[in-house]
Amino acid sequence: MEPNTDPRGRLVRPKGTNDLLPPETGRWRRVEATFRALVESFGFDEVVTPVFEHTEVFVKSAGVVSDIVTKEMYRFTDRSDRDLTLRPEGTPGVVRAVLENRFRIPCRLYYTGPFFRYSRPQKGRYREFHQVGIEVLGEAAPETDAEVIFIGAEFFRRVGAVPCTVQLNTIGCRTCRPEFRALLVEFLNAKQDRLCDECRTRTDLNPLRVFDCKNESCQAVLAHAPKPREHVCGKCAEHFAGVQQGLTRRALAFTLNDRLVRGLDYYSRTTFEYTSTALGAQDSLGGGGRYDYLVAEFGGPDTPAIGFALGLERTLLALREPEAQPRRALVFVVWLGATEFPAALRIADDLRAAGIAAQIDYSGRRAKLQFKAADTARAAACVIVGPDELARGFCSVKNLTSGEQTKVPADHLADHVRALLQRAG
Ligand code: AMP
Repeated sequence: MEPNTDPRGRLVRPKGTNDLLPPETGRWRRVEATFRALVESFGFDEVVTPVFEHTEVFVKSAGVVSDIVTKEMYRFTDRSDRDLTLRPEGTPGVVRAVLENRFRIPCRLYYTGPFFRYSRPQKGRYREFHQVGIEVLGEAAPETDAEVIFIGAEFFRRVGAVPCTVQLNTIGCRTCRPEFRALLVEFLNAKQDRLCDECRTRTDLNPLRVFDCKNESCQAVLAHAPKPREHVCGKCAEHFAGVQQGLTRRALAFTLNDRLVRGLDYYSRTTFEYTSTALGAQDSLGGGGRYDYLVAEFGGPDTPAIGFALGLERTLLALREPEAQPRRALVFVVWLGATEFPAALRIADDLRAAGIAAQIDYSGRRAKLQFKAADTARAAACVIVGPDELARGFCSVKNLTSGEQTKVPADHLADHVRALLQRAG
């Protein structure tokens, strides 16, 4: 087990988790705000569900044989012996919440927050990570699938992520999947000697998951495997054609990927994924699919549904360029001597009352050191309060980006600073 302290004996964070500090937190919030504004413009409303649920919620949805359930859940027993799990994904909790609260269906919901999976950490893969996601319950039309897929791609475009590729597939429905599954099992059974141990087990338990295997020998075998797309029933084929038409109508390019089956049992028909070349091995930015059976599986009415989840850590990794560390929309009030302190304090409060973020140094340090503190706080400007200024009813305002200093009458101070901060932001 890894130590919980560094060589100097100081406590460190658990393996696979991240600390997020300024200015990264600002960047993070901007990406999240872009997501909220985008999905709200498509009629989605926010839902917040617990970070842990009864383990059954995830077992029921993902299926007992999925990797998430068998290997990756942060599962624990609480002090009253409840079997609980830190949520590894968003959809099951949202479906549970909609049904438990008798929320109206159809509905369009979105969420953001932390998720937990016990997997081997590497770049872009963590044990605690963050997703933003949407769920549409009660819409069956292929146009909805196209709209959902479009929204994800539009999110990546707006935040400036490296152009991502949309991968698309269909995995059929309850009518056609059993037949395809049997065909695939027959094919895999004849090739057992060339499959890895895990895929040999999957052949019986969850054969579609073999498509996900990264092993070279398995991949070579699968190149000749029957493809779900070619074995779906008429209705699924028609639906899939509608999805593609919808994407084309929105001028959204996509790549058909026969191997895209996604790891979870609850998907039906459309599956999709956003990938980026900027990410290395963990190249998936996000993904989703239709899950027309899940709501009924949870005891609700038959409800067609579709959603996606996008990873925030990977989105930030894929951003074209790290943003230059911007100065903050913050003004630092610098006072030159004890006589000016009360006036400086009042000025800071007046600025805050006018909606401007203001900070002041109380240590009584020399002005030079207060300027240094302003720089460390990445303030965009300083207001300087000295005896001359006070006597003549003005303040000096220093733009910390350009170094330019201006004298501003006291009654124009808030307007002047606001304009300066807007330019800086
Ligand atoms: P999934 O729920 O597996 O379809 O994942 C959707 C997206 O969440 C992925 O494309 C990633 O961007 C992100 N994601 C999933 N698992 C992790 C992880 N362990 N670490 C970081 N991001 C993840």
